[in-house]
Amino acid sequence: MSVSQLAKSIAESPTLKLNEEARVLREKGEAVIHLGAGEPKNKAPINAILSAAAKLNAADIKYTPTDGIPSLKKAVIRYTEENYDRVVAPENVIVSSGAKQSVFNVLYSIVNPQDEVIILAPYWVSYPDMVKMVYGVPVIVTPEDGGFYPRMEEVRKAVSSYTKAIIVNSPNNPSGVVYSEEFISQIVEFCEAKGIYVIMDDIYHKLVFDGKTVPVCYKYTKKDIESTHVIVVNGVSKLYGMTGFRIGWTIASKELIGIMSNVQGQITSCTSVLLQAAAEGAMTGLQSVVESLRMTLENNRNIMMQELHSFTGVKCTKPNGTYYCLPDFRAYYNKSVDLSQLLLKKALVVTVPGKEFGMEGHLRLSYAGSIKDITEGVARIKWALDPSSPNEIYIGDRKLVRDWL
Ligand code: PMP
Repeated sequence: MSVSQLAKSIAESPTLKLNEEARVLREKGEAVIHLGAGEPKNKAPINAILSAAAKLNAADIKYTPTDGIPSLKKAVIRYTEENYDRVVAPENVIVSSGAKQSVFNVLYSIVNPQDEVIILAPYWVSYPDMVKMVYGVPVIVTPEDGGFYPRMEEVRKAVSSYTKAIIVNSPNNPSGVVYSEEFISQIVEFCEAKGIYVIMDDIYHKLVFDGKTVPVCYKYTKKDIESTHVIVVNGVSKLYGMTGFRIGWTIASKELIGIMSNVQGQITSCTSVLLQAAAEGAMTGLQSVVESLRMTLENNRNIMMQELHSFTGVKCTKPNGTYYCLPDFRAYYNKSVDLSQLLLKKALVVTVPGKEFGMEGHLRLSYAGSIKDITEGVARIKWALDPSSPNEIYIGDRKLVRDWL
């Protein structure tokens, strides 16, 4: 079949693929534990449901303005003022179908063929492919010390005359680390001076632990919203655990938002009005849901760390946010894809190979699920890899004997 070379070169999202594999196994009745999940188990906030239900009851479901309904944009503006200390206008905001579309739309709107986009490893799986999809060149910066915190010096070395943008995702998927105030200030100041866009993917910015807060990017620029190269992407998926509602947004200059609106108008026309109403309901309703989600995840993080500590060969940087961690399994396996497959086959535990995030030898483990999933999931991994653990285990109602170590 004759298809586009570019489309053919785009990889299937490994996380979505694993979700599907887990779903199929569960449907077959297998006792799968999904430590690959990218969404918490909470119910959608009641205000989101009431707002969407009111819209649905009115039976008035039509197109909206391409850049979003004014009342949701108003809620985003208020959110930006409260959390970023920036007053922006409605023309500085565009609502998209999830932060994923927001990031893609930003890249589509700023990148020329052969422009380079710097991505900091470990990185969210979709960034490199998204850059390729707009004919750009992803340039990966990997911390030389093998850790998860990039250094400004390393970023500087990767910058060339083709550099168009840097994507910064903190709290970080997959490592859970929160970049320091110093690093964010250096990146913003450097990019503003050089005219390079900084795309702040802030999708996890409220899910932080240990009393920490995330550095606010706008604090480090003297430029106003119309001239800054800082672009903020955020959304309701992680903030309220509303992943299925598919609402994200971008804050940028009026000029860029206008271009992004033209692009979006030709692709999706607009985001569903029903889902925009739900997002507005969540953002204007009770905010205690965010704190309760955050506290649940912090508790889950503590349990995940405790379980991993009892695993002698595994090293793990403590995450300060998100619902992921990225332990180093190289004491057992160097190839994370093989390891992930082994764990799925032998122990029925879904994990995501670190290779997909630019960190070979690691696995991304999610603690968004239940405490039982975390404890049992890690126990199964330990059984599969660690010769010092008992060689029999119950998975569902089956007793399994380890015979490969
Ligand atoms: N950025 C990062 C870093 C993410 O992890 C995700 C979701 N996994 C997204 C963006 C996309 O979020 P949304 O569900 O709003 O499209």
